Amino acid sequence: MSGALLEARGLRTGYGRLPVVFNVDLEVKEGEIVALLGANGAGKTTTLRALSGMVPLMAGEVLLDGKSLKGSTPDSIARGGVVHVPQGRGIFPNLKVDETLRLACAMAGVRRAEADARVADAYSVFGRLDERRTQLAGTLSGGEQQMLAIARGLIMKPRVLMIDEMSQGLAPTIVQDLFSIVRSLPEQGVSVLIVEQFVTHALDVASRAYVLEKGEVALTGDAAVLARDEAFVRGSYLGESGIDATAGNGAAEFHFDDGDDELPLAAGLLEKIENRAAQEGRNATEVLVDLLREAMESPARQGNGNGGMS
Ligand code: ATP
Repeated sequence: MSGALLEARGLRTGYGRLPVVFNVDLEVKEGEIVALLGANGAGKTTTLRALSGMVPLMAGEVLLDGKSLKGSTPDSIARGGVVHVPQGRGIFPNLKVDETLRLACAMAGVRRAEADARVADAYSVFGRLDERRTQLAGTLSGGEQQMLAIARGLIMKPRVLMIDEMSQGLAPTIVQDLFSIVRSLPEQGVSVLIVEQFVTHALDVASRAYVLEKGEVALTGDAAVLARDEAFVRGSYLGESGIDATAGNGAAEFHFDDGDDELPLAAGLLEKIENRAAQEGRNATEVLVDLLREAMESPARQGNGNGGMS
C-alpha cells in the first residue's frame, strides 16, 4: 500500500525542443483519487500526456509499480493499466455506443466472451449508455459522450484512469453525476488522476491535489486542507481561470450538443444555426459567427448576468 502505483520523478517534457513542464514530482497511490489543478496553460494536459507516453520525456522518469516506463509505447502503457481519457473526449461520431465499446475491447485484445462481460459492466455503471446502445456517438449529449469516453477507458480495466477536463462544457447536474461515478472508481480497483477546472468538485472528490504553475508544482497537499484554503489557491495559482463550481465556464457557452444536460445558453442553438443556414443558403460557420456577434451586441445577453467572470 505504501509505494506509489504511478509516479513521475523530475518530469521535464514539452513539444519539439521547448519544455513546458519542469521537474514535476507526482504520485498516485493505489485506491487514491488525485487532482491536478492549475491555470490555463500551466501544463496539466502535457503532464498527463507524458504519463501516458504520448509526449517524450526530456528528463526524469515515469514509473508504474516502481518500474520505469522508459521506452514503452502509449499502447503498451495503456495495456499496462495507465489509461488516458483525453480532453475533448476523442469520440468517433459515426460509431454507435455499443460499437465504440466493442472497438475498445478489440483494441485492448480482449476476447469475445470477456468483451461481452466488460461491455455489460460498462452498461451497469452507465445506465444512460445502456439505453442508447444503438445510438451514434455523435448524436449523444455532451454528458453522455463524456460517459462514453470514460466507459471506453474503463473497458481497458485500468489501474489508473487519467481524466482530462471531464466537466468541460457540461451543465452542473451532469457534472455531479460524473463526479459520483469518479468517486466510486477506487472501489472497483481503479485509481484516478483528474485534471479539472471545477476546483470545488475536484478537491471534494480527491484525497490529494497538486497545483501546477507555469509547468512546476507550486503547491501540493491534502485535498481537504486545500479546499479549506480554496480562495487562496484560486487567487494565488489559478487566477481568473479558477472557475466556480456552480457556474458554467467559458467553454460551456460554446458547447453545441443538443442533449438534455446542456447549458440553457446553447439550447436550440444548433437548430437555429441549421435553419438559418438553410434559409439563407450559407454555411453553418458563417451563420454561427453572425449569431455570436448578435449575441454579444444584444443588451439582453449582457444583462443576463450568468457566469459572472469579469
Ligand atoms: P489548459 O487548461 O488550457 O488545457 P494545461 O494546464 O492543460 O492548460 P497544457 O495544455 O499542458 O496546459 O499546455 C502547456 C503549454 O504547452 C502551453 O503553453 C501550451 O500552449 C503548450 N502546448 C500545449 N500543447 C501543445 C502542442 N501540441 N504543441 C506545442 N505547444 C503546446
